[in-house]
Amino acid sequence: MSKDIGLNVPLPEHECNDINCPFHGKLSVRGQTLIGTVISSKMDKTVVIERQHQATVTKYNRYEKRRTVMHAHNPPCLNAKQGDVVTITECRPLSKTKSFVVVKVEGASE
Ligand SMILES: [Zn+2]
Repeated sequence: MSKDIGLNVPLPEHECNDINCPFHGKLSVRGQTLIGTVISSKMDKTVVIERQHQATVTKYNRYEKRRTVMHAHNPPCLNAKQGDVVTITECRPLSKTKSFVVVKVEGASE
């Protein structure tokens, strides 16, 4: 049984028994919600998310591309793959570098 996590996201089609799943486990979410692209899903239940943004270079009055790479928990019921655009939400720290969890797979990018 999936539980309502308090966000406007659809419930996953599958079920899982991951304790750190926000829908089927005991993990609660709070804080920021971000959108990013999965650049690696090789780790067990963890994905690497890339977020691109523009930064102003005042000296040349132009923009430059910057990227942020972060880790997020990937519950087995959502199973985000490399190239997917995903919505991630902040949760308690799950490991040294992981304090976000995938809550929605928007589909493949491009
Ligand atoms: Zn789940």
